[in-house]
Amino acid sequence: MKIIIIGAGPGGYETALLAAKRGVEVVLIESAHVGGICLNEGCIPTKTFCKNAEVLDSLREGETFGLTDLTYGFDFSKVIDRKNAVVEQLRGGVEGLLNNKLITLVRGKASFKDAHTVTVTPGATPVTMEKSVEYSADHIIIATGSVSSSLPIPGADLPGILTSREILDIEKVPSSLCVIGGGVIGLEFASIFSSFGCEVTVLEYCKDILPRFDTDLAKRLKQSLSKRGISIETQAQVTSITECDSNAYTVSYTRKGKEETVTAEKVLMAVGRRANVASLNLDDLGLEYTQRGIVTDERTMQTNIPHIYAVGDINGRMMLAHAATFQGIVALDHIMGVENQIDLSVMPAAVFTSPEAASVGLTEDECKERGIPVKCLKSFFRANGKAVTMGETDGFCKVVVAAEPKEGAQSPYQPGRVLGCHLYGPHSSDIVQEACAMISRKATLEEFQSVIHTHPTLTEVLQSAIHSV
Ligand code: NAD
Repeated sequence: MKIIIIGAGPGGYETALLAAKRGVEVVLIESAHVGGICLNEGCIPTKTFCKNAEVLDSLREGETFGLTDLTYGFDFSKVIDRKNAVVEQLRGGVEGLLNNKLITLVRGKASFKDAHTVTVTPGATPVTMEKSVEYSADHIIIATGSVSSSLPIPGADLPGILTSREILDIEKVPSSLCVIGGGVIGLEFASIFSSFGCEVTVLEYCKDILPRFDTDLAKRLKQSLSKRGISIETQAQVTSITECDSNAYTVSYTRKGKEETVTAEKVLMAVGRRANVASLNLDDLGLEYTQRGIVTDERTMQTNIPHIYAVGDINGRMMLAHAATFQGIVALDHIMGVENQIDLSVMPAAVFTSPEAASVGLTEDECKERGIPVKCLKSFFRANGKAVTMGETDGFCKVVVAAEPKEGAQSPYQPGRVLGCHLYGPHSSDIVQEACAMISRKATLEEFQSVIHTHPTLTEVLQSAIHSV
């Protein structure tokens, strides 16, 4: 068996490695660096910035921890150097893993010639091919990821307007930053640059930040970020951007019928990402796609052409690196007729703000909308011993549990089954993993309660919530 995989991000390269491990021959085509957006200009570089932000925040609180007469400088070029070094180290690791006799890594741009053949043309970084080459295979997996979206408003294409890619390489910390979009990307950069000493304003179109997260969590996280000095305007519809002088932009928006403006040295556009279907020649192929991305079967990741699969951001289902990896496993298993127990609907997500937020499973709002009776159990980091010792007590944990339906009503879930967990506070991105493990095994509250947590740890926040019945 031979498989072509287009795109070497966490969807593509992880699937290629697993396929090779199972003895399948793979042609992996990549037009840029291996590792995809996640490793080169997404999750990994932003997390290096998060670490810098954390160090600076700790220094600011130095007196609390007995540090006196503290003076320090902040050389932003070192932040960029460290980020680049981390990315290069990890990219080198992926390249090493891909150096496998069953994997042919082709550096170039792929386009479908027909349903079994892909033409690869030069134009990659780093360039390693001189002329176009064709590859054919029994099965093809498309994993070409996504690109930043912009707004169809005047000024959105001004040269200085940053996306999540350019902001990773700016030369200095701006004195002020206006972030358009209070989603995951917008808030992570807002939090980071606020810690870097920049005055940050976030403009979010919806009623709350993080529209896809638990409302309660979003409201409290907003308060928390506002307390740190980040100005967040919700229900703000951005209408135009103008360059007011060589050093600043004015962002105009309407809020509750009133025209308002924000002036900032830099503007970050963080209003979502769209599937990267460009140059694949999908129209000639007859492969179905919408504005959201390539249409796939929710369980197999098959497209309307059954031997072609699409995994990761390209199918627009869940724009998360780990979703791409697991969708890749699901696709490969389907190709090879391997059974698995992966439930793609139980997908954890984390927002690396300070404090962090994380979520898995159904939210209370979703349950209300779907008429699922639930009870919510809560606990607070201020009552968690470890959080108090760390001086990081801001945050809560909320567990959504299926409840008994009213007489005559029905629920798709057995009462007592744990359906979701939503939290913000220190190390939320790690804590959510336990809830994810239990929810994906369809655990009940009683089963959750039987798990012993080490004391004193932050994970006890989850224990406190599930025992608060
Ligand atoms: P997003 O969809 O999470 O957020 C975009 C935000 O922009 C939304 O809140 C939306 O309401 C707002 N918006 C849209 N139009 C607007 C307007 N005219 N004015 C003001 N606000 C407007 O998208 P994102 O933050 O760009 O992230 C893209 C994708 O990448 C997401 O799917 C995200 O989950 C993923 N991602 C995940 C992580 C992570 O898991 N830590 C990190 C980065 C990105």
